[in-house]
Amino acid sequence: NLEKILVSACLLGQRVRYDGAGKATAHAEVARWRAEGRLVSYCPEVAGGLPVPRPPAEIEAGGTAAAVLDGSARIITPAGADVTEVFLAGAHGAVRAARRHGTRIAVLKEGSPSCGVHRVHDGTFSGTTIDGSGVTAHLLRAAGVAVFSESEIDAAAAHLAALASP
Ligand code: SF4
Repeated sequence: NLEKILVSACLLGQRVRYDGAGKATAHAEVARWRAEGRLVSYCPEVAGGLPVPRPPAEIEAGGTAAAVLDGSARIITPAGADVTEVFLAGAHGAVRAARRHGTRIAVLKEGSPSCGVHRVHDGTFSGTTIDGSGVTAHLLRAAGVAVFSESEIDAAAAHLAALASP
């Protein structure tokens, strides 16, 4: 039974981003995983109930994914709408999807307030990014899932190979 890989839906070309676009990766490894039937496609923001397109959103300035999860920071739109609850619903749904498919590895879209692996926007809607994770990436890690960005697919493949070796 081949281990499945949870992947941000936009990286698989699904047009689920806030601006209605996808962000398909052309990495050959992902094409191989697809051919092997190992992909679990998931968009936390759509799963949480947000439409496409939707306003962009960022973790508010000074906040972190951990702070959002413990209720001390919000995720907001440029107009100041609080979208924290739907983002959290999508993050918890990602953990459930990982458990349901028994997957211990995820490849997520860098920079997103949900999926960001190493970088997120700084809450000023100015295009500035800072070190940090999105709430889905953070919660998956906390659940023991190894999380990689789209620029770390080779490392993800190596990790997968290590998981598969007895
Ligand atoms: Fe892609 Fe994640 Fe944003 Fe959905 S929430 S569009 S999967 S980066």
